[in-house]
Amino acid sequence: MDKFLSRKRTFDDNKASTSAQTSIVPKIKSRKYSQEYLNFGFTITEVNGEEKPLCVICSKILAADSMKPNKLKRHFETLHGEYINKPREFFESKLKSYGKQKTFLKKLCQ
Ligand SMILES: [Zn+2]
Repeated sequence: MDKFLSRKRTFDDNKASTSAQTSIVPKIKSRKYSQEYLNFGFTITEVNGEEKPLCVICSKILAADSMKPNKLKRHFETLHGEYINKPREFFESKLKSYGKQKTFLKKLCQ
């Protein structure tokens, strides 16, 4: 009986550590999403600890509840229709230049 109890406890401990591990998942998930969003010219930015979609073309930050592919797509198609056929690399380079701009602005503020 004692053996059985201790084995059960070990099982529960394993379960607890598994659920602790799953709490890391959202971060990886959002990174995966940001890769998908780049197809619509969007990346993810963090504003006051909240993740929001950022348009790499017009640098506009949309509301957190706009972080849905159909909403991002609508912004992209209505405002940046001329970029629809651009390759993914185009947005990647936009994202890179945005990153540089951000560092530049940071330097200015210091
Ligand atoms: Zn835009």
